[in-house]
Parts: sequence; structure tokens; C-alpha cells
Amino acid sequence: MDTFMTMKAYGTDSDKALEKAEKRIIQLEDELSVTKTDSDISRINSAGGEDVEVSDDTAVLVKAAQDYGKLTNGALDVTVYPVLAEWGFTTGEYHIPDEDTIKSLLENVGYENISLSGNTVQIPPEYQIDMGALAKGYTGDMIMDIFRENGVTSGIISLGGNIQTIGKKPDGSQWRVSVRDPFSPDDNLCILEISDKAVITSGNYERFFTGDDGKNYWHIIDPNDGYPADNGLVSVTIIGENGLMCDALSTALFSAGTEKAKTYWKEHGDFDMVLVTDDKHIIYTDGLSGSFENVSGLTDEVLTHD
Ligand code: ADP
Ligand code: MG
Repeated sequence: MDTFMTMKAYGTDSDKALEKAEKRIIQLEDELSVTKTDSDISRINSAGGEDVEVSDDTAVLVKAAQDYGKLTNGALDVTVYPVLAEWGFTTGEYHIPDEDTIKSLLENVGYENISLSGNTVQIPPEYQIDMGALAKGYTGDMIMDIFRENGVTSGIISLGGNIQTIGKKPDGSQWRVSVRDPFSPDDNLCILEISDKAVITSGNYERFFTGDDGKNYWHIIDPNDGYPADNGLVSVTIIGENGLMCDALSTALFSAGTEKAKTYWKEHGDFDMVLVTDDKHIIYTDGLSGSFENVSGLTDEVLTHD
């Protein structure tokens, strides 16, 4: 998954749990990678419009991509991959594409054209998908399941900075998870005290380049125009029980922007979030009151349901 991972597990069979988790991560990478040529995702992308049989994991992720695509009105769109590739985010050979290129690539973007029936996936011939927005959250969920099945009562994993936890710390206190300051990524923005939850962040500082025009361009694309999403937010952290949901929403709400993110939370509300706006303001949801500590110089406010 092109990132660093760390795992800590405490409990009766924690060594076995860690071993099994490692195998499961490799299996998921083999199924979901967009660069490995024989992964499910690569086979879907090179099928020329034909049906492709995929693993249960891939089917779950394709279904989630469809569901969150719909729920977020297309702010999450896993078919945006060819646009992402044109910007160079898949290879590191970054450049600002010309507008006509983006326009023509956007003709082959639209999550609603993915079809899934059982374990059979089909996308139109010119389409390409990638699960980069969701895969780490799902992987974390699968590791948490393995941990629980193997007697782990306390555990924490970091998949490229995405945190997922089981129970509390071995000493009985809550896990203290820091969120990075998008304006100064070596420093912390806030500390969250959590247990049994995932904390998943999407930010404009994670993968970006500076163009010839001196502006920064980052790896979350607004499917409406094919440019890096610039809708008021510099980072979105989602806190919830389901890693897949948290990962999908961190990317989707970053893409959707401040106002739509607030509205989405008010309408769904089965999670908490910390938004950081481009004018250096933190908005966090009221479920975090008491477990949120602002350690930055930024101003903050609590978002409530009314
Ligand atoms: P990270 O993987 O850096 O932690 P995210 O979970 O936010 O961050 O996922 C970003 C990845 O999602 C990108 O690298 C790309 O593969 C994919 N992506 C970018 N924009 C979108 C989008 N609008 N919808 C779906 N996937 C996207
Ligand atoms: Mg994500």
C-alpha cells in the first residue's frame, strides 16, 4: 500500500495475531493494488469492458465505493483514477495537465457506471478504478477482526498514519492519538482520547507538488472539475467504529468541502470529525467534547446538531 505500517497487540495470542495480520495485509495488497498487474483491480481496469470475477474483499470494496459515491453525491468517485494519473500522482512525475486533457479524461469518470453483481465487476472500456481512498480503512478493519479473534484485548495499528484501536491501553487509560497540523505537518494539531475507534485523516500535505506557477497541488481530486479539491478544507479527520467508513468519508468530505461536510455530518452523524479550514480554523463535532485537546495556535469551534 505504498506506506509504513506499525502494529501493537496485547493479549493471550498476540504473537499469532500479528503473524496472521501480516499475511492478511499481503493478501489484501495482492487483491487491491492498482499497480500489481494480476490484482483484481488491475484485471478490472484492463478487461476492456468485460466481466471480471473478483475476491470477496474486492467485492466489498466495490460495493462501498458505489454506496459512498451515492451518499456523497460523487465527492467520492473511485473512477477518477485516470485524472489522478494524468497529474502524476501515481508515478511521482508530477505536472499540471492542460484543460482539454482533463476535460476529455472526465468523460470517462462516473462511479454510477460501475456494475457489481455478486463477485462479478464490470466497468466501461475506457474506465479505470482505484481503491486508494478506501483500502487502508478496510485493511485496518480486517486486522482488528483478526486481533479480536486471537484474544487481543488491547491493540493499536497505524497504516500510513491512519490509526485503528482495540480497547484501551494496557494500563487501562484511553489511547491518545494526535492529528497533524496541516500548516506545519511536523507538529500536532490536536490530541484525541479514544478507545475501540479509528481515527483517519485526509490532508493536502500528505502527497503534493508545487507547480511551475508556484501553487501546491495535492492528491485528492474533485471529480467535478478534475483539479485537486480546493473547497475550503486542508484536512479532514474522521473518528468512528468502522475504518472503511472513516476512510471513505475522510476522502469524500475533503473533496466535498467545508459546507457539504458539515451538512453530511448533520444528516448522518454516526461518526465524529475534525475539519481544518484553509483559513486556519478547526471545526470539531460535539461527540469529541471532553476528548479533544487543541495543541495548535489555531482557533476552534464545536459543531452541534442544531
Ligand atoms: P491517503 O491514502 O493519503 O491516506 P486518502 O484516504 O484520502 O488518503 O486517499 C487518497 C487516495 O484516494 C488518492 O491517492 C487516490 O488514489 C484516491 N482519490 C483521490 N481523489 C479521489 C476521489 N475524489 N474519490 C475517490 N478516490 C480518490
Ligand atoms: Mg480515505
